[in-house]
Amino acid sequence: MIIDLRSDTVSKPTTGMLEAMMHAKVGDDVFAEDETVAQLEARVAAMFGMEAGLYCPSGTMSNQIAIKAHTQPLDEIICDQLAHIYNYETGGWAFHSGVSIKLLPSERGIMLPSALEASIQPDFDWLPNTRLVCIENTVNRGGGSVYTLEEMKALQPICKKYGLQYHLDGARIFNALVAKNYSTTDLHGIFDSISICFSKGLGAPIGSVLVGSKAFIKKSRKIRKVMGGGMRQAGFLAAACLYALDHHIERLAEDHQHAQLLANALAKNPLVSSIRNVETNIVIFSMIDKETTDRFVAYLAANEIKAVPFGGNSIRFVTHIDISAEMIQQTIEVIEKFV
Ligand SMILES: *Cc1c(COP(=O)(O)O)cnc(C)c1O
Repeated sequence: MIIDLRSDTVSKPTTGMLEAMMHAKVGDDVFAEDETVAQLEARVAAMFGMEAGLYCPSGTMSNQIAIKAHTQPLDEIICDQLAHIYNYETGGWAFHSGVSIKLLPSERGIMLPSALEASIQPDFDWLPNTRLVCIENTVNRGGGSVYTLEEMKALQPICKKYGLQYHLDGARIFNALVAKNYSTTDLHGIFDSISICFSKGLGAPIGSVLVGSKAFIKKSRKIRKVMGGGMRQAGFLAAACLYALDHHIERLAEDHQHAQLLANALAKNPLVSSIRNVETNIVIFSMIDKETTDRFVAYLAANEIKAVPFGGNSIRFVTHIDISAEMIQQTIEVIEKFV
């Protein structure tokens, strides 16, 4: 039994999900004729209080379309230094949009209003125009850390004051909602755009939905096409996302409990030097030195447990729908025996 804790993207569709996919009503979505895609886009937009949605092949594409639609060359975007947009999207802001990026330092990827306001550029010829603020919730590199509602709301008046657009990379927004007990309704009216992943904790095979105003989504649809993201009978995939909305949100609490159990076991092993506070389904921890880090990853692999080295002496575990309580128990026993 392989226990794959590398990422919540590795999960496979359940039988129920495959069943829903097989029976999807589809059409050519480039001609806007796929009713399942249309249903998903409308449903996600309504959930998050937005006018329209756009189904995209990946979260990276959703984020990059949003940056492109909100900016023009000579603009600057602001992100936390841990942001996925900065670290893991191949520098797409420069490649697709010709904008510069300003990175704000933080402890766990939570952007503070004072830091944001201080980073906005005045209007000089020699400075780019600050245009867009992107936050991430939950923060992957922060160890699955979660913004409170107040923390997200606190940045909005600054965006308004300086005429900036406000984007949420909500790849794992449902983990945040479940962990902090707020609902999609609570997010209404805060952001100009939100991207939401379905192939992470929600367990769908593919896809992300970008939501925003009608005009923003009209522009985004064209950008998706030029990036090669116009899809044909994508309703088979959208059906998996609709199924996930009905069946896979509340169960995220189980992934969070599993992550906490793994953290508790790690905390008891003297070769583990530190563990980031676990708030959702991600556990980032450090071993006492590099040699022990490499040895632990190899030891886990020898015990059929997959994990990713996460820079320096760090390792990341991510729990998800394909990780059962039995697998967690087995992993804990393996962790306890590591000397
Ligand atoms: C996974 C992820 C994305 C998008 O990733 P894709 O693999 O392109 O779907 C974006 N933001 C965050 C925070 C992520 O974790």
